[in-house]
Amino acid sequence: MSKETTRKTDVLIVGAGAAGLLCAIEAGKRGRSVVILEHNAGIGKKIRISGGGRCNFTNIHTTPSHFLSQNAHFAKSALARYTPQDFCDLVKKYKIPFHEKKLGQLFCDKSAQDIIDLLKKECDQCNVAILLETSATNIIKNESFHLSTTQGPFQSQSLVIATGGLSIPTLGATDFGYKLARQFNIKVNLCRPGLVPLTFHDKDLRFFKDLAGVSLDTIVSFEGTAFRENILFTHKGLSGPAILQISSYRQPGKPICINLLPDNNAAILLEANHSQKTTLQNFLKNHLPARLVEIICRRFFKNRPLNQYSLQQLQEVAQFLHHWEIIPRGTEGYAKAEVTIGGVDTEELSSKTMEAKKIPGLYFIGEVVDTTGHLGGFNFQWAWASGHAAGQYA
Ligand SMILES: Cc1cc2nc3c(=O)[nH]c(=O)nc-3n(C[C@H](O)[C@H](O)[C@H](O)COP(=O)(O)OP(=O)(O)OC[C@H]3O[C@@H](n4cnc5c(N)ncnc54)[C@H](O)[C@@H]3O)c2cc1C
Repeated sequence: MSKETTRKTDVLIVGAGAAGLLCAIEAGKRGRSVVILEHNAGIGKKIRISGGGRCNFTNIHTTPSHFLSQNAHFAKSALARYTPQDFCDLVKKYKIPFHEKKLGQLFCDKSAQDIIDLLKKECDQCNVAILLETSATNIIKNESFHLSTTQGPFQSQSLVIATGGLSIPTLGATDFGYKLARQFNIKVNLCRPGLVPLTFHDKDLRFFKDLAGVSLDTIVSFEGTAFRENILFTHKGLSGPAILQISSYRQPGKPICINLLPDNNAAILLEANHSQKTTLQNFLKNHLPARLVEIICRRFFKNRPLNQYSLQQLQEVAQFLHHWEIIPRGTEGYAKAEVTIGGVDTEELSSKTMEAKKIPGLYFIGEVVDTTGHLGGFNFQWAWASGHAAGQYA
């Protein structure tokens, strides 16, 4: 094709990630001619690394309550019309082995590549054209959309923006979708990294950095939202599923609260053993990782035989163990975040079709939209569901 020839298509999708590919398949099934532009050299790069390489492709317990958005109701319609079962049916059609790891999280048994191959095969069956290493440089709209791209000009009736969020720039993340929304006067809500490790202030890091690698079951909460899962000490602060989850809710400068002993009542345990000569450190080692106990005793409570603490002091220890309040310095940023919170304001979009209310024919799907899932397969379920919704209409 000459670079000057304008290529016409019914549906042009920017971004060959989870949402863009699913949307292409659905639009293709309706007989629409579909072209996807992807600036990476391959499709689905985030799918490839997701779930530790095994892609947690959905969560069987998905409900709208698993999503953050300025409009909590927005995701309901799309999620109801494309369920985890729908995606599982696709996975089963290709005989991809999978399992539930925990809490409804479905993972591939072998590799995330299985999901990418599935999507590619479905695209091929619907004659979806995928142009790799192709970026849009300029977009204008009159009666249709006109795109200048690195592979020449395109014209389409519908334009679907599936460019994802800002996390992991090394995998191709760009702010293209947000810029385009603004170009069409569509509101974009403030973006920030979500599902992201938290960092300690220097005064805390001094004590806790030696704990890198220590992991334990906890309840982590912030202003009424709580997650029971593991936390993991890192060289910079805290990570692990419970921390990633709460990172999406916490606010800068305010403390998160960690219950280090969710299955015990530390006050009762300590008071019952008040007369013992065993040291606090030795006693707590029965309930918590030894390295953590050592640091807690060194930093906060000294280490004496239990019978040398007053009841009041033991209550303070118990209070700490159940309500360790820590104000993170910040996060490890988009380089380590799994998702971007915020994005294209859902008030600007139809919840049924994902079409921009102001600009007929323009659709936003997946992570670029201000709808962000919890950890555990919910973000892919949103990508599939929003891609499916747009694919029925684009
Ligand atoms: C390390 C990691 C692990 C994760 N694991 C999971 C998991 O197991 N389960 C889960 O549910 N979620 C997981 N997520 C989140 C999930 O990957 C995303 O929410 C999901 O991929 C979003 O899909 P999307 O199609 O909207 O965007 P993306 O998958 O990010 O796709 C966007 C595509 O658009 C392309 N693009 C961007 N800008 C342009 C441009 N200007 N021109 C052309 N192409 C462009 C990008 O290269 C990319 O291919 C994980 C995220 C990360 C970072």
